[in-house]
Amino acid sequence: MNTKNVIVVGGGPAGIMAAGIAAHRGNKVILLEKNDRLGKKLLISGKGRCNITNDADIEGLIENTPGNGNFLYSAFYTFSNQDLISFINELGLETKVERGGRVFPVSDSARDVVSALMRFLNKNNVKIMTGSPVRNIIYQNDKVSGVGLTDGTVLEADSVVLAVGGMSYPGTGSTGDGYEMAKKLGHTITPLKPSLVPLVTEDEWVKDLQGLSLKNISVSFKNNRGKEIYSDFGEMIFTHFGVSGPVILSASRHLLAYDFKDITLSVDLKPALSEEKLDERVQRDFEKYSRKQYKNSLDELLPQKLIPVVIELSAIDPYKPVHQITKEERKRLVALLKRLEVTIVAARSIKEAIVTAGGIKTNEINPSTMESRKIKGLYFAGEIIDVDAYTGGFNLTIAFSTGYLAGMNC
Ligand SMILES: Cc1cc2nc3c(=O)[nH]c(=O)nc-3n(C[C@H](O)[C@H](O)[C@H](O)COP(=O)(O)OP(=O)(O)OC[C@H]3O[C@@H](n4cnc5c(N)ncnc54)[C@H](O)[C@@H]3O)c2cc1C
Repeated sequence: MNTKNVIVVGGGPAGIMAAGIAAHRGNKVILLEKNDRLGKKLLISGKGRCNITNDADIEGLIENTPGNGNFLYSAFYTFSNQDLISFINELGLETKVERGGRVFPVSDSARDVVSALMRFLNKNNVKIMTGSPVRNIIYQNDKVSGVGLTDGTVLEADSVVLAVGGMSYPGTGSTGDGYEMAKKLGHTITPLKPSLVPLVTEDEWVKDLQGLSLKNISVSFKNNRGKEIYSDFGEMIFTHFGVSGPVILSASRHLLAYDFKDITLSVDLKPALSEEKLDERVQRDFEKYSRKQYKNSLDELLPQKLIPVVIELSAIDPYKPVHQITKEERKRLVALLKRLEVTIVAARSIKEAIVTAGGIKTNEINPSTMESRKIKGLYFAGEIIDVDAYTGGFNLTIAFSTGYLAGMNC
């Protein structure tokens, strides 16, 4: 084969995979990264444990990719999640499967994932240039010819892979630079929106719960016509602006189509008990504490921080002796515990989102090669493309699989 000069822009999972594979095929590859090291976002992924991929079958991967999953059939069939697991294992890193098919390194260390990927690049003689921010892609007659760095340096190339990520967590280097570069080459950028993002609520009392984490709760999100959009079970946390935590971040992708507005979040604080069983439980507590005031009767039922809020929302006099609480009032309390309602009015900014939804329009990219349909020799990989998935290791799978495809074809 002819040796090509390949430049890969962006040292995240997509760029690392593209660079290593392109070099493995015998090309001369330079990987340009603007930070002083590679994989900064990878290091914080999965809370520092790196949820590398998911054990689902290919249909499962697509189903978990609500943002243009169909575009990824070729990428996933060419380099699947199972291929990715074998690849990581062959680099000397053992993996394990956890709840929901989530795949992690056995060491629970994202740092180990980055080290393994560095070994892959070094083994294939990829030239790594950190501290090298790319400003623009150079092209002639609809064919790439190189890239320009911000310091004015020009590097020539036969192929360029643009893998600079989205614009979430800009502190990791993903500052959205690629969108402007691609736009100048005639590409369309679909609207960029936050996904897997904390949510802003309008209820004042939420602020009083700041820092409270609720485990084993279930949540249900309804639109303004009362139709359920999403439900889940797990953990959430109250913040100074609203709500966050695993079930909230997962839910947020389902609220994107509603622009995160006019949504009611209903939290079931006692999902293991039916309303009837919970009523029996409350009655037992009330019998036990019949001589106490209402405000002192909920200690066994709720976390301390939640008690004043529940007392207020239940509209029962906090000083009322428990034995004087009416059946109607008790039923109102039980209903509140089963359906603590919060109004969602917005999402937090894209900077706080785990992923960026939107990006390079997929029909302007060949899904079998990741090559631009507009500029020859230009390839895209990873989050810069208008694809995004739910939590569970699906977004990194997209980065690695599209990176592989770009690396195989550039
Ligand atoms: C907190 C957090 C936790 C996450 N956890 C998980 C998880 O456990 N599992 C999962 O599947 N997904 C997770 N994700 C999502 C996942 O990390 C991203 O989808 C993935 O990193 C995207 O890969 P990428 O290579 O396309 O882009 P990035 O990882 O963003 O890498 C792009 C790289 O390009 C560089 N760059 C940008 N502009 C330029 C330029 N002009 N010149 C040169 N270099 C440039 C950047 O510095 C960066 O290093 C998480 C995201 C966040 C924010």
